[in-house]
Amino acid sequence: MAYKAPVKEHLFLLNEVLNLQSHANLPGFADATPELMSQLLEEAARFCEGVLEPLNAVGDKEGCRHDPATAAVKTPTGFAEAYRTMVEAGWSALSVDPRWGGQGLPGVLNLAFNEMASSANMAFAMYPGLTHGAFSAILEAGDEAQKALYLPRLATGEWAGAMNLTEPQCGTDLGLIRSKAVKAGDGSWKITGEKIWISGGEQDFTPNLVHLVLARTEGAPAGTRGLSRFITPKFIPGQDGTPGARNGFRCVGLEEKRGIHGNATCFMSYEGATGFLLGEETKGLRLMFVMMNEARLGVAVQGLAQAEAAYQAAAAFARDRLQGRALTGPKNPDGPADPIIVHPDVRRMLMDSRAVIEGGRALLFWTILHQDIERGATDEDERIRADDVVQLLTPVVKSFLTDRGFKVCSDALQVHGGSGYTTHFPAAQYLRDSRIAMIYEGTNGIQALDLVGRKLPAHGGRAMMAFLAELDAYAAEPADEAVRPFVEALKSAKAQLQEASLWLMQNGVADPDAAAAASHDYLNVVALAGLAYMWARMAKAAQARIVAGDADPYYANKLITGRYFLERILPEAGAHLAKLKTGAAPVMALAAEAF
Ligand SMILES: Cc1cc2nc3c(=O)[nH]c(=O)nc-3n(C[C@H](O)[C@H](O)[C@H](O)COP(=O)(O)OP(=O)(O)OC[C@H]3O[C@@H](n4cnc5c(N)ncnc54)[C@H](O)[C@@H]3O)c2cc1C
Repeated sequence: MAYKAPVKEHLFLLNEVLNLQSHANLPGFADATPELMSQLLEEAARFCEGVLEPLNAVGDKEGCRHDPATAAVKTPTGFAEAYRTMVEAGWSALSVDPRWGGQGLPGVLNLAFNEMASSANMAFAMYPGLTHGAFSAILEAGDEAQKALYLPRLATGEWAGAMNLTEPQCGTDLGLIRSKAVKAGDGSWKITGEKIWISGGEQDFTPNLVHLVLARTEGAPAGTRGLSRFITPKFIPGQDGTPGARNGFRCVGLEEKRGIHGNATCFMSYEGATGFLLGEETKGLRLMFVMMNEARLGVAVQGLAQAEAAYQAAAAFARDRLQGRALTGPKNPDGPADPIIVHPDVRRMLMDSRAVIEGGRALLFWTILHQDIERGATDEDERIRADDVVQLLTPVVKSFLTDRGFKVCSDALQVHGGSGYTTHFPAAQYLRDSRIAMIYEGTNGIQALDLVGRKLPAHGGRAMMAFLAELDAYAAEPADEAVRPFVEALKSAKAQLQEASLWLMQNGVADPDAAAAASHDYLNVVALAGLAYMWARMAKAAQARIVAGDADPYYANKLITGRYFLERILPEAGAHLAKLKTGAAPVMALAAEAF
């Protein structure tokens, strides 16, 4: 069965759980009526299912090709045409401010489109994703001329963008960057150096490609404090945007990799290329964090999206494949065997996947709604509170959804048995494609360190305290009988999160290794409490529909999946809490030479 965009899930979240209509004060939200959202998401589904999904296997098989003579990159058959269709339909600019040529709709609605696109074809969806990152960086730090020149073209996807951070000697530790920028004397800079693994560093869709390059200016201090960011277009545009002279950099090769073959992963060589400083000199890293936080949310979407596509494939296979008989007696007595969906172990994998996907999706949508509030609210306190949520949860959703997304893909392959390991089914591609999301935009280990080292202590722990208070406040609200187990579970998840946070405050400062050793487990405790909160909200919304007489089984199924989460996934928080409290000793005791 081919991927089907989960439009009903998206509409349930947008209308009934997040209640977008109650945020009509935010720009674009009043326009996002339930009717418009439904129409738009159905249309998006047709594009993703009909245009992008059929190219997923094509991209995986063909990959991208590099011509060393011209440095050109050829993307898989159909990608360039699909890209043009996407740009013409305006999908790239759905939530972009109309000032820059967008439609100004809520970012959280755009998230639904991004999820569908990434489920249908992750390698393809990365091209517009990175362009969006370049757009955000220029929006954040560009001067008026840079904004006027680049933003409308990046917003619509007419031009594409790429991010150039990584070099052969540095990935996580960007302080080791060697690429150099020297003043050219005319206000621009000359950039020299090598960048590796640059996603979408070259392609054959767009007449121009804007690289954002992190480099060290002459005389700048060593380490991360000496870095600056440069807009480095492939063709240097005139004021009117006409692409001009070819810039002095090129793609010198493509990386062979395990997945996302349809996305060109480029080795870039800069040979005195012309770059234009973006923001202040030596403030590149700060700007990069702005951009990275956003990109991390984009990677969280990839984890969710691959999980959804893999789960759908596994569920369809499990309904179809006949093996063995149900332990409680045949369920398909006229057939030679029962479908494997009767077996509790197969059910376990499908239910684990479904409960994590639905809860994780809700947490991601809730996070992005706060990004909309941070950008659009007029009240300063409201903006600060919303930004705290986004800052705190960005590493959490990036890491949790990509770790769990990969696990879902692995379980989906397992449900397929040997067929999953062959190329006849898409399960193996989902597993391979999803794996990178745990690594790029900061590995998941680095996300956990960001959470305990930066996000948790920021402003004296303000964001976490507000999060805990929000969970308390929700748990104190009256709840109907069917929702009460969700509220009780939320209370205990909140208590565990509080205990874990307290432990970190008491032990992490004195012993940084203890904080680092605890970070992965702490991140999981935060994520599971977040999912418990989302499941409580989803249960309440579903139960309200049931009480109102809605007989759609969707709502009863929501409660069944939610209870599975409470009973079989949330208890993991207790194990994570116990592990994190063991501190640094168990992980650090063995001497390095003993490994
Ligand atoms: C397919 C692909 C696409 C990519 N696209 C881009 C792109 O578009 N632009 C770009 O600039 N880069 C890109 N990258 C690079 C990517 O962001 C890096 O691979 C990633 O940041 C990790 O860096 P690294 O590979 O050098 O690993 P390393 O930094 O060498 O890390 C190795 C391991 O050590 C751990 N580690 C390292 N330092 C610490 C620490 N201080 N504390 C705890 N653990 C640590 C890491 O978590 C990891 O497990 C891409 C990479 C791939 C494979």
